[in-house]
Amino acid sequence: MTSPDQPEYAPIPPSALGPAVNDQGYYVGRVERNLYYVTDSVYQAAFLATQDGVVMFDAPPSIGHNLQRAVDEVAAAEGVSNKVTHLVYSHHHDDHSGASSIFGGDVVRIGHEETKRLLLRDGNPARPAPDITFADRYTLEVGGERVELAWHGPNHSPDNIYIHFPGHDTLMFIDVVNAGWVPIYNTNLSEDVPGYMAAPAIALDYPWTHFICGHLGRLATRDDVAVHQQYIADIEASAREALASVDPVPFYTAAWPNFWAGVKGHLDAVTERTAAPVVAKYTGVLAAADIEIFTYTTSFAIMQSLRLDSGPSGPVHP
Ligand SMILES: [Zn+2]
Repeated sequence: MTSPDQPEYAPIPPSALGPAVNDQGYYVGRVERNLYYVTDSVYQAAFLATQDGVVMFDAPPSIGHNLQRAVDEVAAAEGVSNKVTHLVYSHHHDDHSGASSIFGGDVVRIGHEETKRLLLRDGNPARPAPDITFADRYTLEVGGERVELAWHGPNHSPDNIYIHFPGHDTLMFIDVVNAGWVPIYNTNLSEDVPGYMAAPAIALDYPWTHFICGHLGRLATRDDVAVHQQYIADIEASAREALASVDPVPFYTAAWPNFWAGVKGHLDAVTERTAAPVVAKYTGVLAAADIEIFTYTTSFAIMQSLRLDSGPSGPVHP
């Protein structure tokens, strides 16, 4: 088998990597008391092992049947039930929920009302729609444990919720911060850029020590969220400077009458000016910061949001 050529990238900072996985390809670790997380080094799910059954949080297909293996391992060690009775969806995306159906039809599924609408729209039997939905808040109580689910507006997806474990000093909030790594393309494939940019501050408003962010191998800390916030703030500041300082006129003059060629020339120049200093600053700090396309596409998304959401998009014709 041949593998694709791999460019020379900067070494991954050791602090960005999580624990080694076992022979079956997963690691299960205690977050606090009877709250555990499971990872395959790229994706993360979590579960509460209570006396009345197990509550699963997300079901990434890449972890798949290792979710039940992780539950079985913990249940045997702790002497509790290994039966998954509840499954909470963080959001509707298949890469975090596509193994939901392996827990069968008797599991009580819980999610935001928009998650239900989107799962019904997508019509994938691997991801049954939630039985219990909520609009703003829902308190889940199972086996003497309490979990607070809340929706604070769209961010990565329209339905992405905050999952707070007040008795476990933990917050689970998926696909916004990647612990120790840069977001991938376009603000981590987010649909609402202002919502994505504002979400980490909402997460930090909760009391917690442990943060389950969905990627990659380890739990996140409050410092990880702060570094992510600074990375995004640096892109925003750099984009404002670039938008103000790159003169669009020469690009349109050179391209005339191909107006779209002028747009490309101008926006490519703004993106380059925005992203280049951020790539330089974060290489060696956040893993994969030197894979330029990630910071470039995130810079483009934020720069466009500054124009289109915040405004002004340009001067008003006299
Ligand atoms: Zn997602």
